[in-house]
Amino acid sequence: MADPHSIIRVQSLVKHYQVGDDTVRALDDVSFGIAAGEMVAITGPSGSGKSTLMHVLGCLDQADSGNYFLAGEDVAGLSSDRLAEIRNRRIGFVFQTFNLLPRMTALENVELPLLYAGRRNAKGPAAEALEKVGLKDRMHHTPSQLSGGQRQRVAIARALVTNPAMILADEPTGNLDTRMGGEILRLMSELNAEGRTILIVTHEPEIAQHCPRQIFLRNGKVVPETIRRGADSGPAPSP
Ligand code: ADP
Repeated sequence: MADPHSIIRVQSLVKHYQVGDDTVRALDDVSFGIAAGEMVAITGPSGSGKSTLMHVLGCLDQADSGNYFLAGEDVAGLSSDRLAEIRNRRIGFVFQTFNLLPRMTALENVELPLLYAGRRNAKGPAAEALEKVGLKDRMHHTPSQLSGGQRQRVAIARALVTNPAMILADEPTGNLDTRMGGEILRLMSELNAEGRTILIVTHEPEIAQHCPRQIFLRNGKVVPETIRRGADSGPAPSP
């Protein structure tokens, strides 16, 4: 059953990939919940299943079996059209490579999800989202006129503007130097302090440790002692 306070509840997720005669268990009986307002890292070494899990949580792909409730809605087994609709409505994505449209200004990039959703007057909310990420005075710049950290701020504003149930960030600091990466993590923490639910997928322990809670994957399984790990309870187990 879905818990009314949980944004995410996954139960016994399994996903296989068939490679020749081999079956890879990319997700092997994965279960956990994430409550509204949490900031959680999904972490683990390369090949542990992070991307596979992110695609399922982001409604970009389906598990072979198991349950997935997103904001109380049972999304396992939905058609790809329905999944796309839920994805656009519920999830704000932030990618390692920012994925901004190069010919558009910051403001136009942030307006896009609202325009796709059929909203008119997207400028006001887009400007507000850019102000929130500290880019009020850069709204009319194109991505090439912005630093990497500023581009990622635009991407975060674009993720925020539809007021999604959660922000799903895939290696959000992967293309940034340490200082800019730190700024992006601080911004995410500020947004979390305002009550936003944030999931960061990362293979970097230092990034994961920035999150109050870490879900550590190994060989497609959740390492059990990490399910309720707090920020002050020591580093995650090494791979
Ligand atoms: P991570 O993101 O932690 O590096 P992945 O989710 O990408 O892990 O991969 C988990 C496992 O599934 C790995 O063993 C990987 O080789 C395998 N895998 C991922 N995607 C595919 C695919 N499309 N086809 C076959 N095997 C895959």
